[in-house]
Amino acid sequence: MNLPQTDTSLFKRLRFVLVETSHPGNIGAVARAMKTMGFAELILVNPRFPDALSNADAVAFASGAQDILQSARIVGSIDEALAGCHFVAAVSARLREFSPPIFAPRGIAENLAQEQTQAVALVFGNERYGLPNEIVVNCNALINIPANPDYSSLNLAQAVQLLAYECRMAALGDRRPASDIGFQGEAASLSDIDRMYAHLEQALVAIDFLDPQNPKKLMPRLKRLFSRTGLEQEEVNILRGIAKKILDLNSKK
Ligand code: SAH
Repeated sequence: MNLPQTDTSLFKRLRFVLVETSHPGNIGAVARAMKTMGFAELILVNPRFPDALSNADAVAFASGAQDILQSARIVGSIDEALAGCHFVAAVSARLREFSPPIFAPRGIAENLAQEQTQAVALVFGNERYGLPNEIVVNCNALINIPANPDYSSLNLAQAVQLLAYECRMAALGDRRPASDIGFQGEAASLSDIDRMYAHLEQALVAIDFLDPQNPKKLMPRLKRLFSRTGLEQEEVNILRGIAKKILDLNSKK
């Protein structure tokens, strides 16, 4: 396969294009949505306010994503915004009789990340009237967020956030974080876990909870319970501390 000279990562190839956006606050919020997901290229086609990128609301809503606003471009036509793009998807709350093939965000994100190697764009419409048909019919795909049919129109920046998130997940591919995100301590070693079971067993025998002559399935069941948890070293230490305390108290009786 012939890869182009440019960076093929979707983070570098994907352009977010906003058409005729009315509220500068939304533009700032879009910048923030993009940056949180690792995207950087923002182009505005004829925003309602020519100073949209420096407007106080835009700056406030962008929060820590000022750099996205500073490097964003304002252009006078959709053709200018899409120059050099090889695949363009219109993002629209409305389905139309004549439209390019329709995708949900996850499907298009996989497609953009895997099958494309060149510049691609997502085009978003105005807050009140969406995207004009003339733009939609010229796109390669129409993306619809399958929202509540009774109220399916998302805020512009929230629609951008959702698309940017799906594109990030698709772009990360195998590097995407596991579902068990969050604090994770060091995993306990098998030998430490074995010693913890022995300690626990001793304590349970000491308090007559476990009868060594008739142990039934108590230890195998406890092992099964703990094996589902992904024990960390710190947790093994706590359980051993409990076992130790039980044994200490019991020996004083
Ligand atoms: N009333 C407008 C809604 C505009 S919301 C309309 O009928 O299109 C502003 C922009 O956010 C839309 O142009 C689109 O780009 C995006 N958006 C909002 N909700 C969406 C949805 N359910 N699916 C896809 N895009 C959506």
